[in-house]
Amino acid sequence: MHELSIAQSIVDSAREHATLNGGRRVVRIGVRVGEISGVAVEALEFCFGMTVQDTDMDGAALELERIPVRFRCSRCAHEFHPVEFLGQCPTCGSDGATMIAGDELGLSFLELE
Ligand SMILES: [Zn+2]
Repeated sequence: MHELSIAQSIVDSAREHATLNGGRRVVRIGVRVGEISGVAVEALEFCFGMTVQDTDMDGAALELERIPVRFRCSRCAHEFHPVEFLGQCPTCGSDGATMIAGDELGLSFLELE
């Protein structure tokens, strides 16, 4: 399962940070999940629970922040949420927009005790 390896890498990097900070306990982990990152949020939460169970991180809370897809127009710099992923600017009609958010996946914050 795709989400299981993602959960594992989230747990690994959280643990690494905690160790670098004097081995403190991880209480909260924030993760940014882009709308088109290909991650099923429910599956990731489930896999995270499985991964931390009976480990030093058992009980740590996972906070998933969903990031919607955003485009920025290269002509007028207007930022917008694309309709059906067509990058046409609703303000000036230019179709030279580029994606600036929506495919991220990674730690956003870590709360240690
Ligand atoms: Zn524009």
